Amino acid sequence: NYILAIESSCDDTSAAVLCNTKVLSNVVATQEIHKQYGGVVPELASRAHQQNIVPVVHQALAKANIDKKELSAIAFTRGPGLMGSLLVGTSFAKSLALGLDIPLIEVNHMEAHILAHFIDDEERTPPTFPFIGMTISGGHTQIVKVSDYFSMEVLGETLDDAVGEAFDKSAKLMGLPYPGGPLIDKYAKLGNENAFQFPKPKVDGLNFSFSGLKTSILYFLQRETQKNPDFVSENMNDICASVQYTILEILMEKLQLAVEQTGIKQIAIGGGVAANSGIRGRLAEAETQMGWETYVPKFEYCTDNAGMIGIVGYLKFKRSEFTDQSIAAKARYAIGS
Ligand code: ATP
Ligand code: FE
Repeated sequence: NYILAIESSCDDTSAAVLCNTKVLSNVVATQEIHKQYGGVVPELASRAHQQNIVPVVHQALAKANIDKKELSAIAFTRGPGLMGSLLVGTSFAKSLALGLDIPLIEVNHMEAHILAHFIDDEERTPPTFPFIGMTISGGHTQIVKVSDYFSMEVLGETLDDAVGEAFDKSAKLMGLPYPGGPLIDKYAKLGNENAFQFPKPKVDGLNFSFSGLKTSILYFLQRETQKNPDFVSENMNDICASVQYTILEILMEKLQLAVEQTGIKQIAIGGGVAANSGIRGRLAEAETQMGWETYVPKFEYCTDNAGMIGIVGYLKFKRSEFTDQSIAAKARYAIGS
């Protein structure tokens, strides 16, 4: 079976073609326009999706060497995300499915981030159920108990900023360009993670909060640059290492709590922040020290991509979970709803 998948929830337009669990093509058009604004501008995002969607789908079909007449179904991101962005992918998917007279499959973007682990990959084995999924990205921070493909329970999530935002906003305070997450990672490798201390938020249970951290970094940098205007440039590596250390401590503490609460030691992470070398190091450490089994998908399936929408499409296709033409995009769309 060939499934075409479409993702347009935020600022990346993506299309993929899957043959069962195997990704034949996964094309992503990243919108550069937002860089100059230091964040995603919704209005510009939907316009760019409108321009990109047809060429991106054509490219995905061409790369997979599949004619659209060979497709068995079309899967698309219904939500959560920016309404104007979701509408582009949703409308396109509906029209194409109608034109080709093939089934339409709606996909929850947050479930897809987790089920990305089941994309066929020669170098990786997928987690077995039950496992703890942690999605850490620019827009989301969630800990989910995954009992089966479509049996998920959100155990905790952020009450304010996402982890990726914590990285990007901290980077911005240091004068680094957007998105600053990868730069913090890069400089952190050269710095001392204990050079500076930042308070960790006190949030009960498995929820997160990152806005306080951002504020304390702001005050810290203001205080230090008053004493020494070159403080940031002279201490870039140490500041980055200390900020990253604090963020990773927060993530690891919550994961540890999730393991204690559920008794599940299989941890599968995803989302753009999963690219962080620090978190990868900490997970490897937890494997040897605490007997966890940890999983990180290939990077192209961590950030927003249609491949992960396609794997959910395939899983639903097998169950004949189709939707009809009356389906509408959903900006807020909770896992399991
Ligand atoms: P979402 O997936 O929630 O819809 P998004 O498209 O912003 O939102 P992703 O593309 O998954 O999210 O991830 C982007 C985020 O990941 C950015 O905040 C970026 O700074 C962060 N990021 C990417 N690489 C790294 C890294 N090596 N270290 C830390 N953060 C990183
Ligand atoms: Fe995402």
